[in-house]
Amino acid sequence: MKFATKAIHVGQAPDPSTGSTIIPIHLSTTYTQAGIGQHKGFEYSRAGNPTRAALETCLAALEGAQHALAFGSGCAATAAVTHLLKAGEHAVVSSEVYGGTYRLFELLMKDHGLAFTWVRGTDPTAFAAALRPNTRLVWIETPTNPTLSVIDIQAVVEVAHGQSGVLTVVDNTFATPYFQSPLALGADLVVHSSTKYLGGHSDVVGGCLMTNQQALRDRLHFVQKSSGGVPSPFDCWLTLRGIKTLALRMDRHHTNASQIATWLTAQSGVRTVYFPGLPTHPGHAVATRQMRGFAGMVSFELAGGRSTVERMVTRLHTFALAESLGGVESLCCYPATMTHAAIPAKDREAIGITDGLLRLSVGIEDVDDLLADLEQALG
Ligand code: PLP
Repeated sequence: MKFATKAIHVGQAPDPSTGSTIIPIHLSTTYTQAGIGQHKGFEYSRAGNPTRAALETCLAALEGAQHALAFGSGCAATAAVTHLLKAGEHAVVSSEVYGGTYRLFELLMKDHGLAFTWVRGTDPTAFAAALRPNTRLVWIETPTNPTLSVIDIQAVVEVAHGQSGVLTVVDNTFATPYFQSPLALGADLVVHSSTKYLGGHSDVVGGCLMTNQQALRDRLHFVQKSSGGVPSPFDCWLTLRGIKTLALRMDRHHTNASQIATWLTAQSGVRTVYFPGLPTHPGHAVATRQMRGFAGMVSFELAGGRSTVERMVTRLHTFALAESLGGVESLCCYPATMTHAAIPAKDREAIGITDGLLRLSVGIEDVDDLLADLEQALG
């Protein structure tokens, strides 16, 4: 079965008791047992819920994984991964990650005895140099948020697997399983904020983890059940509905973003354009090798810094000035004070998040309208 078909059918067979073609929203928190321990796989909805099970089955199929676990947010999924580490253990993390991932690791989990070393993700040797005997995890995000750096997944996996007991985790939110398959490149675990492209309509917060390893899945299911960061049945249903059109949406995000990135490179007020599909992008060769498309995120730096940024964002009409990404509607975000405000200014600047940087989540509207909006706002 091909991707677009899986997105609509896997985990979503007609309901056996009613014939309902669309997966029901199972609100029941509890499940009646015929005798003690005699049930149909569900006992209590934090541990397992039929609507969530449908979503998890579909998510696993799309990521090419044996197992998926859904969480109440991408951060909840990330937090579940940190529970794989015990106090005194260490993780190596690419310095270009979502600001909330940085916040969780540095400002929360550090206080619980975990240690993190931040390295330049585009240099696989940096991961090797940072490994310690107590390292349990290498964490990367690619393409990165917001400067769209591309990290060579296979090269990082090789480094991580060079030391026994080190897992490679890839945040695949920006690429989506439609365009990138980290597990096939050797990663142990994939994480998504399904709030973004998977849900696709900016109306549900969620996250998920996927793996091919039964032991890892069992441990993470234990974490999910014990820490309780699960999505509601309605959230699972909304995410599943969004996923049905993922393939169509991603193709359109990709073509719209490619056109906009190319157009931006020709604008005099624009200093740098970050889009992995541009042949001038430093990660283009790796992106072409490990991705099947470049998705819909484009960042760019305005020559005039903060004042030109302020002028442009207030003139945009079709692009909304807003956090988040991956929905059908186009958004524009100012990472320095919005998504990446948790990162100290000097660390932010070092990873390219300058006062002139804007990030676009290019939606699936008609690209002519998007280009016209950008042109009048820049003018
Ligand atoms: N990973 C990436 C790449 C993100 O962009 C985000 C949120 O923006 C997250 C993880 C966290 O996801 P959530 O906001 O669903 O908790």
